[in-house]
Amino acid sequence: MTERQKLYEGKAKILYASDDPAVLVSYFKDDATAFNAQKRGQILDKGRMNCAIATHLFQILAAQGIPTHWIETTSDREMRVQTVTIVPLEVVVRNFAAGSLCQQTGIPLGTELAPPLVEFYFKNDDLGDPLLTRDRIRAMDLASDNQVDAIICLTEAINGHLQDFFQRCQITLVDFKLEFGVNGQGELLLADEISPDTCRLWDQTKTDPKERILDKDRFRQDLGQVADAYQEVLQRVLAQVSPN
Ligand code: UDP
Repeated sequence: MTERQKLYEGKAKILYASDDPAVLVSYFKDDATAFNAQKRGQILDKGRMNCAIATHLFQILAAQGIPTHWIETTSDREMRVQTVTIVPLEVVVRNFAAGSLCQQTGIPLGTELAPPLVEFYFKNDDLGDPLLTRDRIRAMDLASDNQVDAIICLTEAINGHLQDFFQRCQITLVDFKLEFGVNGQGELLLADEISPDTCRLWDQTKTDPKERILDKDRFRQDLGQVADAYQEVLQRVLAQVSPN
């Protein structure tokens, strides 16, 4: 068997070419990074858990008419996805205040944000993923005005579907990060992944502010039981009726 071609290795995933140029294989690793990769480690079985969680969430969103890059999941760590050109924006949705929002604005942790905030960050590690404005996106030519409008529209719809879904899991969707890409047909698709690496998820059955954390903040803040938290999310997500 010929060695498959590695196209890109990121912090949490590897992208391989497939026999079809319109399709890539996304492999989920156990590697974890935080604080712009200054903190590095591994979370046991994270790749398998995130692949399963992301698969389920992509299916749910696709069933609601959201265009995504996901095609099929082919093994416990791999999915086939549409080849896209990534729009170099990290789109962050905040339903409750946490993380950098609290640090930068002083808004207290857990404050409900109604309506939710939709923010853009420049996907650029060297610059530390700075916060963007629409004017900056235009000045830097990172995306067209129409693309930004379409991204906001899709993001708000995705947030609604994910909030409903996690509510059924007794999990509060605090905030999350999305990435979008454009395929060979010029269609804008949800790309990358949605998982406890990219979301803040709080267990509604717990009141203790540290105990309730079910996401990568356990790794960022050295809270322990990181893999257990991801496993808990996976179990609750899979316990929901499959979208198909
Ligand atoms: N996030 C992400 N990748 C990034 C930055 C943020 O997935 O490079 C997610 C993060 O997990 C959280 C949300 O986006 O769910 C908001 O993150 P924030 O801006 O508060 O930054 P952080 O506190 O993680 O530095």
